[in-house]
Order: sequence, then C-alpha cells, then structure tokens
Amino acid sequence: MDLVAQQAEVADEILADLEAIVRGGGFIGGDQVTSFETEFAAFSDVAHCVGVGNGTDALELALRALDIGEGAEVLVPANSFIASAEAVIRAGARVRFADVDDESLLLDAASVERAITPHTAAVLAVDLYGQPAPFDEITPVAERFGAAVIEDAAQSQGATRFGRPAGSLARIAGTSFYPGKNLGAAGDAGAVLTGDRTLAERVRVIASHGSTEKYVHDEFGFNSRLDAIQAVVLRAKLARLPAWNAARRAAALRYDELLAGLEGVRLPVTLPGNVHNWHIYCVRVPDRDRVLAGLKAEGIGAALHYPTPIHLTGAFRRLGLSRGDFPVAERAASELLSLPMFPHLAEAQQVRVADALKRLV
Ligand SMILES: *Cc1c(COP(=O)(O)O)cnc(C)c1O
Repeated sequence: MDLVAQQAEVADEILADLEAIVRGGGFIGGDQVTSFETEFAAFSDVAHCVGVGNGTDALELALRALDIGEGAEVLVPANSFIASAEAVIRAGARVRFADVDDESLLLDAASVERAITPHTAAVLAVDLYGQPAPFDEITPVAERFGAAVIEDAAQSQGATRFGRPAGSLARIAGTSFYPGKNLGAAGDAGAVLTGDRTLAERVRVIASHGSTEKYVHDEFGFNSRLDAIQAVVLRAKLARLPAWNAARRAAALRYDELLAGLEGVRLPVTLPGNVHNWHIYCVRVPDRDRVLAGLKAEGIGAALHYPTPIHLTGAFRRLGLSRGDFPVAERAASELLSLPMFPHLAEAQQVRVADALKRLV
C-alpha cells in the first residue's frame, strides 16, 4: 500500500481548508464535518451518516444504538479483523463465532444458519476484503430468529451488491476511515450509516457522552467524534474514490490474468451481484509462509489478512475455543496471502509480483 501517491493527489487541494481550521480553531464538528456526513450518506445511499472517531467505535455505537449489550449474543465471522468482535465485547455483549463460505470467505446464509441460536440478538456480517457479504440471503435467516443485522463496512467503501452501495445493506452499518482503507483519513476516523433516523440520533447521543443537550446526560455514553481536519481530508478523497476504486478493479483484473491457471494458487472469488472495491487482493497458496518470506526477500510488500482467526487469538481465549472449531476460517488463515494492492499500483509492479509468485509456488 503506497499512501504517498494518494496523499500527493489531494495535498494541494486541502491545504487552504486545513489552514482555515488551524487558524480558526473549529476543531470538532462544524461545517466540514456536516458536509462530509451529507456527502458520504449520499454516496452510500443512506439517509444518515454520523462521523465518529474510528471504525471500532462505529460498530460499538451501532450495537449500542440497537440496545445490544449485557447478556446479548452477537454472531461474528471467525475470519475478520479483530475489531469486528472487539466492538461486541466493548458493547457488553457476547461473541458467538461462525465459520464462513470456503469460496468467498464471507459469512453467508448457510454459515449463519449453522451458528445462529435462539439467543442471538444480532448478526454482524463483514464485507471482507472489499466485497459485500450476501445480506439479501443472511437477513431472512436472521429475521427468523428475531436477530438484527449489522454491516461491518470498514473495508467496502464504494463496493455494491446488486447495485446497492456497501453501508446500506443492513439496518445499520459501521465503517472505518483508517488511512489504509479505500477511503482513508489522515489519522483515525469512522462513521455509522443508517436509514433509521432514531438510530442515527441515538448514535449521536451515545457518541457525545450520552448527552441530548449540553450537560444533560440521560445515559452513559462515551466520546467518539469526527475531527474537522479529518472531514477536510475525507471530502477531498471521497471525490476521488470512484476513480481510485476503478483503478483497483483494473489492477485486480490484471492480477487475475497474470495468475490465471497457475497451479496451486487459488484466486479470489467475487460473488455474483457484487462489485468489489478490492481493498485487499487475497490469493490462497500452499506452503504460504515460505512464499511470503520469498516475496518479502524480493522487496515485495505482501501481507496477511489475517494470520490468526479471531477465535484463536489470545484476547478470545476466554471463550475456550480451539483449532478445529471453524475449519474453513482456520485453513484460509494458513493459506491466504495478500498481494500489493492500491490505486496507484503500476502494471510493471504487478508483473514483477506475478513473476515472483510463479517462481515461488
Ligand atoms: C479496519 C477495520 C475495523 C476497525 O476500524 P478502526 O478504524 O481501525 O477502528 C473494523 N472491521 C474491519 C473489518 C476492519 O477492516
């Protein structure tokens, strides 16, 4: 991931607005934040966007706005970034992990069906690697059990499913503007997206110390707000996001072509109906650790997303789960390999990556 090229595209444009904030002192909230919220809500085709401090807070706020806390059980895929599960713990609820589909590595209706219980209050499905989970299939299963559906859209800005934008596919969604995401801030930031005005208002209250008006605190909240400086950066990058995602799609197509038919390499699968944003281009190879070391030795920035399924991390040892509980997620974790992927990735760089991979496998 090369952030320098991305910053260079927006740097000149944002300097005047950043200077106005530095000189004027309106650091939290204000016009820039309101404008970004309006623009990102429109981009995601939802009625409400609430800018918050980061993506993990966004998911916690989504859960808390739905009153999912103490004693509630939330279904989370075993293969995601740990924050998906962390947010559930932070909201005071219990995590129940589910395995995923072996092709897409996403939570799907069959995996929800296997893991859901009458105690499940919500299903938190993740748009992993930048393609939407099949919410149209997951939601009817969740509804049969009376469970809410939440979208972790941290990786999927600009992706669509059957023409609907990521972030609009469940009742409420959380997204992250961590600098490395497809839409990244100049630091930490995130947002909650929803079509439900009441939920959006609750998120705003909980994210500002539970206060409906200044110094009136009717419930416990915390502090999670979007900085004006981040809104300036995000507005400039949002205008470029469609072009940047198109460049990623072209790069993904080129990897597909360069690696087609290569024995032992499983290429990423896009679900029918999905337009992927290629946050991550993740192949699966046997003997992955050797291949990864070989790529790194050639100066290629390959990486792992994620080396340990969440149920096997130390943080979740308390659940007493072990290897063998979620075989698809576990096997994927041992085989997956993320190749360099960012909008400014050049064809020559991709050819070099593909050649190295061919030699190593
Ligand atoms: C990045 C990410 C998050 C958390 O976002 P932060 O802004 O880092 O808190 C949550 N879920 C997924 C899938 C992510 O990739």
